[in-house]
Amino acid sequence: MTLKLTELQQPGYERLVLAEDADARLRALICIHSTALGPAAGGCRMWAYGSDAEAIRDVTRLARGMTYKNAMADLGLGGGKSVIIGDARRDKTPAMMRAFGRAVQALEGRYYTAEDVGISPEDMAYAAEETRFAVGLAGGDHGSGDPSPWTAEGVFRCLKVGAAHVWGSDDLTGRRVLVQGLGHVGLSLAEKLHDAGASLIVTDINQAALEDARTRLGAQVIAPDQVFAQQMDIFAPCALGAVLNAETVPQLTARLVCGAANNQLATPDMAQALQARGIAYLPDYVVNAGGIISVASEIHRRGEAYRRGRLDGIAGRVAEMLRRADAEGQTTTGIADAMVERMLSEAKAA
Ligand code: NAD
Repeated sequence: MTLKLTELQQPGYERLVLAEDADARLRALICIHSTALGPAAGGCRMWAYGSDAEAIRDVTRLARGMTYKNAMADLGLGGGKSVIIGDARRDKTPAMMRAFGRAVQALEGRYYTAEDVGISPEDMAYAAEETRFAVGLAGGDHGSGDPSPWTAEGVFRCLKVGAAHVWGSDDLTGRRVLVQGLGHVGLSLAEKLHDAGASLIVTDINQAALEDARTRLGAQVIAPDQVFAQQMDIFAPCALGAVLNAETVPQLTARLVCGAANNQLATPDMAQALQARGIAYLPDYVVNAGGIISVASEIHRRGEAYRRGRLDGIAGRVAEMLRRADAEGQTTTGIADAMVERMLSEAKAA
């Protein structure tokens, strides 16, 4: 029970706190980027960072991203994130998670935490023994459970908005959609696309997932390195970041990109490169907000109607982004970022 919190200075961020508990072997960073729109919310990631500087780079980048994602989804929440420094398979213990819960509690509700890479709902349940501000729990009256089906539903709705923009109809019958990654989100998205009549092309490194999609969804299976050699209408990246880069964008045959993966653009200028090729890109942090919407419903103690309403809101904002991008000759990412920055400055002024 030797929790020690140290405030670190990070210009442009409200708080960056190092939380250490030697008995529980905890070293964690909690970053609050902005609470202009409400208490900060964002997951806790456990990762074996090579250095503290690397962990700080990651947690600050992720916390800022949550400000944008939460603002765009209209959740009444600011942006934050935390990282526990260590190997999730080797180092994680219930005592460590409880100590992390005490650190979150010490911030008195300015930051809500949930699962991210390396942290499961079971781990969060240990943290929740020590804090009211741990969410993404499996049980309880408002426990939101697995966010992935909501992420998939949000991506699917936005993809239909994108299709309506590109082809004048959101009917997906016969559209060739390539889903890269058949994990929690990708498989659920592929099922929805199949039900909507799309013609699926899929890839993954997991053979069992591919076989499932082939037999159950009639998907055409391709090797992971063949993605950009395919003819397709829509590309749905649901595996890795940085898949849209200087090498792949010139090869991409899709007219629409909409998928769940975080940080799809290797560099910001890829947004212009896609636009120059006439490819409509739906910003990842906007279309993949279904998971945090599900978590927000737990924070606000709301139910399914809240989640569906927020997903409708996102789909409406995607339509606006596409319209404005065409009218103003800007990229969708530029429009999205400007929309958020305006929300933040209005909230600060108020
Ligand atoms: P997941 O780990 O369940 O699935 C990822 C899938 O990608 C796995 O099936 C994996 O085998 C596959 N994969 C790995 N390398 C690959 C490669 N080179 N080519 C093709 N496939 C490959 O993850 P998830 O929860 O489905 O999330 C998918 C993406 O969406 C991630 O980028 C994640 O950060 C993002 N995301 C997820 C959520 C959510 O609610 N789960 C929310 C927002 C964003």
